[in-house]
Amino acid sequence: MEEKIINRENLNKLCRDIIDGGNILIAPGKTEYTVIKDTSEIILDAGSKPTKASYKNYAFPKAEPVIYYKKDKNDIELIDIDIKGKKTVILGAKPCDSNSFDILSKVFNWDYKDDFFNMRVKNFIVIGMMCEFADKYCFCTSVGLSPVSEKGSDIFLIPLDENNFAVRIITDKGKEFMESYGKYLTEGNPEKAKAKTEAGKSSAKMPEKVFNSEEVRKWLGKNFEHPFWDGIGDVCLSCAQCAFVCPVCHCFDIVDEDYSYEEGRRMKNWDGCQFGHFTLHASGHNPRDIQGKRYRQRINHKFKYYVDKFGEILCTGCGRCSRGCPVSIDIKEIVSDTVKN
Ligand code: SF4
Ligand code: SF4
Repeated sequence: MEEKIINRENLNKLCRDIIDGGNILIAPGKTEYTVIKDTSEIILDAGSKPTKASYKNYAFPKAEPVIYYKKDKNDIELIDIDIKGKKTVILGAKPCDSNSFDILSKVFNWDYKDDFFNMRVKNFIVIGMMCEFADKYCFCTSVGLSPVSEKGSDIFLIPLDENNFAVRIITDKGKEFMESYGKYLTEGNPEKAKAKTEAGKSSAKMPEKVFNSEEVRKWLGKNFEHPFWDGIGDVCLSCAQCAFVCPVCHCFDIVDEDYSYEEGRRMKNWDGCQFGHFTLHASGHNPRDIQGKRYRQRINHKFKYYVDKFGEILCTGCGRCSRGCPVSIDIKEIVSDTVKN
């Protein structure tokens, strides 16, 4: 692994070059990952709170047309969408976000290869950054990640002091990308970066490991029917905020929108398993007719079904769903509590 140093001034110049080169630059702004037009909008602070939502919408938009159609009495013409991607740099991704595309790629390339998602991800360069934030909702260490995890990053930044970052080149994609910006880098001091990483690992900010995900998976396999789920169902409002802010929730619905009798478009829209109508059949029957069953699905999907099918936990421990829940449901507490029942 190669390691260099970049200072803030040069990092800003690099960002300017990315934008001026006609590429897309996405970085944390005041509350959200934002498409950056001016480098003063970037908030690159390892100690900052995670943005309200993740950046998954840049690979998997909230709503997007997948085909247009025209029809007359006897025929339908289908018009494909041109899905040319643009080089997109994601700067300052926290470790609980950087791994999300690897996790999502499993489902978007399972029984059907989603060209829309794949084209965008192919064009991403992820520049992750060590995290020095932890609140009561964070639990990345319980799902196999950590504040210093480089998983999913092409390049990884470690803040050395107020003005300097160690730059670790993780993947070939990251190496190729950085070749164009070598003028902004200076030789690194691997010992200094290593010491900083070790300090990060032992820091009081390292979230405590609160559950064993394998024990949780086994408990879920044996307790599909359990009164535990009823208690959560009594509190949850079924607003699905938790799904929409999550870096790895990926349910969507396909809807045909007619502009007129002659033409329209087919849309792919985000959906959420907490909505009452999510599994509502046309007959009126709903196999998940109460909220407890819907919450049970959310936890099983993340900590059992996805692990069984793809070998990945469908959760990065970012804590966003809990931070934003209007009735203070904390997924970390719920998953920890499963095995105590
Ligand atoms: S955000 Fe909270 S209230 Fe809303 S669906 Fe999720 S768990 Fe339920
Ligand atoms: S389920 Fe909650 S804690 Fe886990 S990745 Fe999604 S938003 Fe983050």
